[in-house]
Amino acid sequence: MKVLVVDDSSTMRRIIVNTLARLGYKDVVQGADGEEGWKALQENPDIGVVITDWNMPNMNGLELVKKIRAEDKYADVPIIMVTTEGGKAEVITALKAGVNNYIVKPFTPQVLKEKLQAVLGVNEG
Ligand SMILES: [Mg+2]
Repeated sequence: MKVLVVDDSSTMRRIIVNTLARLGYKDVVQGADGEEGWKALQENPDIGVVITDWNMPNMNGLELVKKIRAEDKYADVPIIMVTTEGGKAEVITALKAGVNNYIVKPFTPQVLKEKLQAVLGVNEG
């Protein structure tokens, strides 16, 4: 299963990709904004989960989420939003748009692990 990581910060992408590798998810595709993320999703039908930032140029994470959720074929692809927008209103907006789980920066590898397992339905262990 491939993981799509979308963030305009290359440092943040590296942190997420490294954390994913430590959790055993080594097949990762990256995008620097929503447009690149959307393109990567079209080109990689085996993407099983999307981890996206909110604030990005060109197409932001919320727009990407809405675009993904507008397509029936991606209905079962879980989306985790990783962002500094940790306010209650932002969380509700993201959830309403179709985000399955939410991580507020900064985060620990353990948090990413737990949220990932939650959306993938993986048991602890
Ligand atoms: Mg950003």
